[in-house]
Amino acid sequence: MFETIEIYDERMCTIVLLDASLQKIANGAVHSEGPVYFYEDDSVIWSDSHGNRLLRWSASDGVSVLRAPSNYQSGNYRDLEGRLVACSCGDRAIIRREHDGEWQVLVDHYQGKRLNSPNDLVVKRDGTIWFTDPPYGITEPNQGYGGEQEQPGSFVYRFNPATGEIDAVVTDMVRPNGLVFSPDEHLLYVSDTAAFNIPDGPHHIRVYEVVNGRYLTNGRVFAAIEPGQPDGLRVDEHGNIFTSSQDSVQVYAPDGTRLGKIMVPEICANLTFGGPERDRLLIAAGKSLYAIDLNTHGVQQP
Ligand code: MG
Repeated sequence: MFETIEIYDERMCTIVLLDASLQKIANGAVHSEGPVYFYEDDSVIWSDSHGNRLLRWSASDGVSVLRAPSNYQSGNYRDLEGRLVACSCGDRAIIRREHDGEWQVLVDHYQGKRLNSPNDLVVKRDGTIWFTDPPYGITEPNQGYGGEQEQPGSFVYRFNPATGEIDAVVTDMVRPNGLVFSPDEHLLYVSDTAAFNIPDGPHHIRVYEVVNGRYLTNGRVFAAIEPGQPDGLRVDEHGNIFTSSQDSVQVYAPDGTRLGKIMVPEICANLTFGGPERDRLLIAAGKSLYAIDLNTHGVQQP
């Protein structure tokens, strides 16, 4: 327990299970990202983003390749119908796997110009897709097919798949990457991973207030994350924020207090809640996928 969990605030003790241990449940990826849970068959789909593959794991089937090449698929999520929606750094698009298994591009332009390389996404309860668009699929040779950056910055977008409408809702971050809504969807947290390759760049999480369900205001720094930088974010039912970092998944209370760390032996990229009760934290880190049972529940549905 104490090898795995670091506790800085007693509230952490109500979130973790004292007898739980971190398990490595899968490996063999070049670089694991974007886990998403499927309750239907108790499986996890995740991106081997640098390996240009989409992988699946279940306890009964082990690891299998779902899609190769995946066109440098990164963040994954599920929409209100349970379909897999994803960021494609290679296609520079938001894509969706239809019920018949076919993949479709949902959006790849903003104001007549190609997107940079969408990295991570969430689906709001109204069905809109909110996603980040840093340029890593353009600038990093192992994360995309290169090309020219056409957008004037790295923005966060709100996209309505029902109407095709797309708006830039965050334009004041350097490299927006992971994002998650508070349980009531009144707040949006967005990580900035600029420190990854920009000297003195931000390595923090910003929080914005959501206005009328569709615009953002009052952006401010929520927490600076060390070591490394925050990437993927999730929240639990109490509004606690779980963020990846170089050495761990770190847990923050909604008031910004760092409660503790769940130590992971590889560099953490992304995480999600899984298990039939949504009380199992699934962590994409390095070449592997890890899991640890918690005493709290994630809010992501389905
Ligand atoms: Mg990311």
